[in-house]
Amino acid sequence: KEELNIIQGALELRTKTVEDVMTPLSNCFTIQVDAVLDFNTMTEIMESGYTRIPVYDAERSNIVDVLYVKDLAFVDPDDCTTLKTVTKFYNHPVHFVFHDTKLDAMLEEFKKGKSHLAIVQKVNNEGEGDPFYEVMGLVTLEDVIEEIIKSEILDE
Ligand code: ADP
Repeated sequence: KEELNIIQGALELRTKTVEDVMTPLSNCFTIQVDAVLDFNTMTEIMESGYTRIPVYDAERSNIVDVLYVKDLAFVDPDDCTTLKTVTKFYNHPVHFVFHDTKLDAMLEEFKKGKSHLAIVQKVNNEGEGDPFYEVMGLVTLEDVIEEIIKSEILDE
């Protein structure tokens, strides 16, 4: 039965999209680009339990960077370093994908190994103004794998 599930999950990779499996922005743990890495902020980041944290400027939907928690290894909370200093230093590229990207294509992207987290966006052309890119959420390799094996992977 488990094998059957996996086969079905694998077949569905061609039809399902990242939007189907992403974590919506409203549920994402994000951090503001102007944050100061004092004791409180560092504690919040650690307690979130996430490995990678999208960084936003002004609005939560304006993702400009990704902080890896391991980037904080050399940060002393007493120095009150700004987050900008750290993200500028590591300068990880932000990997954006469109919401209608199929999961098989997403898996191939992740296999290339740049980053196992991507920010999901769509073109918003509703309303009067010019169309713009709108961030909808984030997707990781784990979300795709869960879709294949059809069950939750419990975090450590
Ligand atoms: P982590 O290594 O941080 O646990 P995973 O890649 O294992 O992240 O993903 C586990 C789940 O957590 C996935 O469903 C993913 O969409 C979600 N996730 C990852 N990072 C964040 C974040 N910063 N905020 C909210 N959800 C996240």
